[in-house]
Amino acid sequence: MTTILPSYVTDAWWTPAAEVASTAVRDASTGETVARVSTEGLDLGAALEHARTVGQASLGALTFHQRALLLKQFALALTERKEELYAISARTGATKTDSWVDIDGGIGVLFTYASKGRRELPNTTVYVDGAVEVLSKDGSFLGRHIYTRLPGVAVQINAFNFPVWGSLEKFAPAFLAGVPTVVKPATPTGYLAEAFVRILVESGLLPAGTLSLVSGNVPTLFDHLRLGDLVAFTGSASTAEGLRAHDAVQTGGVRFTSETDSINASVLGPDAVAGTPEFDAYVKQLVAEMTSKAGQKCTAIRRAIVPTASADAVVGAVAARIAERTVLGDPRGEGVTMGPLASLEQRDEVLRQVGKLEAAGGEIVLGSTDAPEVTLADGSRGSSPDGAFVAPLLLRFAPGPDAVVHSTEAFGPVSSLLTYDTVDQAADLIARGGGSLVTSVATHDPAFAVALVNRAAAYNGRILLLDRDDARSSTGHGSPLPSLVHGGPGRAGGGEELGGMRAVLHHMQRTAVQGSPEMLTALTGIWHAGAASQPEGRHPFRKSLAELRLGDQVISSSRTVTLADIETFAEFTGDTFYAHMDEEAAAANPFFPGRVAHGYLLVSWAAGLFVDPAPGPVLANYGLENLRFLTPVSPGDSIRVELTAKQITPRETDEYGEVRWDAVLKNHEDAVVATYDVLTLVAKEPAAA
Ligand code: NAP
Repeated sequence: MTTILPSYVTDAWWTPAAEVASTAVRDASTGETVARVSTEGLDLGAALEHARTVGQASLGALTFHQRALLLKQFALALTERKEELYAISARTGATKTDSWVDIDGGIGVLFTYASKGRRELPNTTVYVDGAVEVLSKDGSFLGRHIYTRLPGVAVQINAFNFPVWGSLEKFAPAFLAGVPTVVKPATPTGYLAEAFVRILVESGLLPAGTLSLVSGNVPTLFDHLRLGDLVAFTGSASTAEGLRAHDAVQTGGVRFTSETDSINASVLGPDAVAGTPEFDAYVKQLVAEMTSKAGQKCTAIRRAIVPTASADAVVGAVAARIAERTVLGDPRGEGVTMGPLASLEQRDEVLRQVGKLEAAGGEIVLGSTDAPEVTLADGSRGSSPDGAFVAPLLLRFAPGPDAVVHSTEAFGPVSSLLTYDTVDQAADLIARGGGSLVTSVATHDPAFAVALVNRAAAYNGRILLLDRDDARSSTGHGSPLPSLVHGGPGRAGGGEELGGMRAVLHHMQRTAVQGSPEMLTALTGIWHAGAASQPEGRHPFRKSLAELRLGDQVISSSRTVTLADIETFAEFTGDTFYAHMDEEAAAANPFFPGRVAHGYLLVSWAAGLFVDPAPGPVLANYGLENLRFLTPVSPGDSIRVELTAKQITPRETDEYGEVRWDAVLKNHEDAVVATYDVLTLVAKEPAAA
């Protein structure tokens, strides 16, 4: 008998007793049993508590950058053994290309967060949001927003269609935020999720308690959740609705987001008539979305919205492309480009939804609901009664107010064609989906694109504008990207699983903290004006990261500006703007008393005033940020600069790190002339004597 798929909880593999009742999970193409699943006897409460205690402690000991580096190592460990995953993935009905999206796509998310985490987060555990709010006149009372990680566990409930990517798109931001994960894959393809978790466990890289896996049903899961925990659900809207209604969410404070059914749209612009590159790109994309992963993608195009005049041409072109390019069959068979659905239950469900669409007036204009002839694993053609095969289906709806097409998701290779005549009608059709993950628009007419996007964006998480300029480089309608929002309003669930740092921050709590500059410096690791500074002693440019402290400071001597300096600078740089060169014109300007020094002259002088020039730990200046010129400087005025170590970020993998310096230029009357941050690279250790 097939073994029961193990779960990975409390840092150990767990399998139920052999004699418990279990559910068989079958190969999508052949119906052969792949695994059995059951959670009977699993102590879910203990599994969650282990993550909350041991997992939280493990991640709490790591900074954002250290976690990011581990994500990269996880990605490398999975890459090394990805062929194993591909072999298992074929059993779920995925072709090689489908598996690439799932497996390499998932690994890609880990790589992206590994690199974004180090570029966009500090090398600490607290993330600071927004600018300082000065709350008292003397600057002794400030406000700042900080993000700290949620203190519980991130429960990630996933749909069956992308067992690897679907898990990793949630695991990566949770891990980076510092929150341990419990993955609950969907039963029909949970064996592939088990395989990737096994690779990570065997890599020995996972800090204790940071990743757990539950294989099988968990009807009582929510009874064990509490404030500080978070649930990221992907699946059907009906399951989401039931889970959202649980007391743990309604009154218990558990953060719940969902990615659910989405009746996505793809609009063909009126300009994109047959023969244009946009028409071709539209058809190619529609066929790709109908056939890749056999249409089992939350982002697939369910509604093709085309001008009435182009409808016949679209149907013809889609039919021709499918006939020419699509080979339905067992993914292990030679030449197969489209696999079966994940299970026979899923096939029956899709055909039921197609029946609903037909009953609502949809006419099948391409494909058939009959059992199709397919390519078998040995390359022969025939029928496969135990395989979950459905041929690509395009239905056409007459114009009218029918609601079913806007609310029915046949989660397979099924799209419906709708027609429009005006941009308002197209926008209205998009909106009737009740909130979508994505809409794409194929047009080369910016006026149409702008009009449609302005009306439709609020109903979508993502919009792709497709034209001749980006058709070749476009990542496509159906591909969520780690750096962009993946989620959508309304029936799409209201979540944002991806979206770069937004997804990380979703696993953290934003808190407004009020206090003195000293307290905020201690809390954030960022020096705040008014906190202690050390202007005496060794020049901070002589200090390595090991020696430098927040608040180490240079207060420079003064330098007086002359008219000759201004003229020399103007001539040398070519910047002879009238405010520097023409007394009368400058005085007529509302901002200047007369001729004034160039701002860049002052910033250059400031560098000369604060620098300590000899070779030393400071390796390079790599930029300025937030430069503002506040008070004009006239000939005869003098300036000086205060430069203070504001933030110190050692790099994990280099012998140097970044130091952000707070620079304030003042004039002889102590008025602030300019403020900015100077960014430098500084060696971690003093040079050997
Ligand atoms: P589903 O039946 O709603 O199941 C989704 C997940 O919920 C599965 O892991 C399921 O586990 C779990 N679940 C069910 N009852 C639960 C409970 N009481 N407590 C905890 N977990 C529970 O959806 P599906 O059939 O797997 O997926 C297809 C649907 O997902 C489609 O409608 C598709 O549009 C949607 N989807 C959306 C996105 C998106 O990002 N928006 C992505 C992919 C798919 P079991 O399998 O063990 O029951």
